[in-house]
Amino acid sequence: MNKIEHIGIAVHDLKSAGITYEKLLNMPVYKTEEVASEGVKTAFLQAGPNKIELLEALSDDSPVAKFLAKKGEGIHHIAFEVTDIKAEMQRLKNEGFILLNDEPKLGADNKLVCFVHPKSANGVLVELCQSIS
Ligand code: ZN
Repeated sequence: MNKIEHIGIAVHDLKSAGITYEKLLNMPVYKTEEVASEGVKTAFLQAGPNKIELLEALSDDSPVAKFLAKKGEGIHHIAFEVTDIKAEMQRLKNEGFILLNDEPKLGADNKLVCFVHPKSANGVLVELCQSIS
């Protein structure tokens, strides 16, 4: 894996969380985007080379809504950039990791994504993402 691409933070209210993080980082939200496949609305901020993705649930049955109900607001996932997501998924499968999807999905920010179950990564939801050129 190449680097941490972003850190995902689950929030109740994207708008107010966006304002808080704009103040915190002293940087504007540069993009908001709905990701239907994940049932979320996202907002992105950048601090130097590092990105923060704020996530608000679009419906009560979205995975982020379930996360918020169970754990409250906070760090939701860590995303790693990969060059070849299919190869990386196969490698992780061979290593015994549980993947949450069999095929890469279209994620936010023009990325192909796949999630690794927190059970197989010491309680952390891990996202793999590959930029679509
Ligand atoms: Zn993410």
